[in-house]
Amino acid sequence: MIEQQIKSAIRDIPDFPKPGITFKDITPILKDPILCESIVNAFAAHFQNAKIDAVAGIESRGFLFGLQLAGKLGVPFVPIRKAGKLPYTVKQMEYDLEYGSAKIEVHTDAFKPGQHILIHDDLLATGGTVTAAAKLVTEMGGMIAGFSFIVALGFLDGRKKIAPLADKVVVLAE
Ligand code: AMP
Repeated sequence: MIEQQIKSAIRDIPDFPKPGITFKDITPILKDPILCESIVNAFAAHFQNAKIDAVAGIESRGFLFGLQLAGKLGVPFVPIRKAGKLPYTVKQMEYDLEYGSAKIEVHTDAFKPGQHILIHDDLLATGGTVTAAAKLVTEMGGMIAGFSFIVALGFLDGRKKIAPLADKVVVLAE
């Protein structure tokens, strides 16, 4: 089962990047090309009948599988990056973190109004990042085709945050 393979591959790093956080290190997955291919295929199978015009991946680990998934689905890839990284004109979205705030950006010509965008990230924690990404997409006139994550941290409220779109959320390992 892919869920078990993902869970066995992910490495828990205690107290990284700060005390009390257990960081889910996905780099061991990247060392296994067969598992990587299975992950892309599993996502693609879930969304094969959905209307998807582009996959938007969130910096930086959302790029790793987001681009591959876009290729598999035969649609463009849209990078959503931290503020100040994208060179062309951007639309920005600010969102709250536990302490302080963060900003993400997307190019204003990344997709057209009315297009259906699948938002991808490696991991769903509190859901703050993908909620901000979804807001960014919808404020630019895009429609949310779904969300995909390799893993979700069940003890956090990420799923609740995106609950209105629960039927469009794919998580390979919980
Ligand atoms: P959140 O906005 O809280 O859902 O956090 C999701 C983003 O932060 C994703 O881009 C993850 O890569 C990263 N992230 C949050 N918590 C962790 C964790 N425990 N291990 C690895 N990445 C995390």
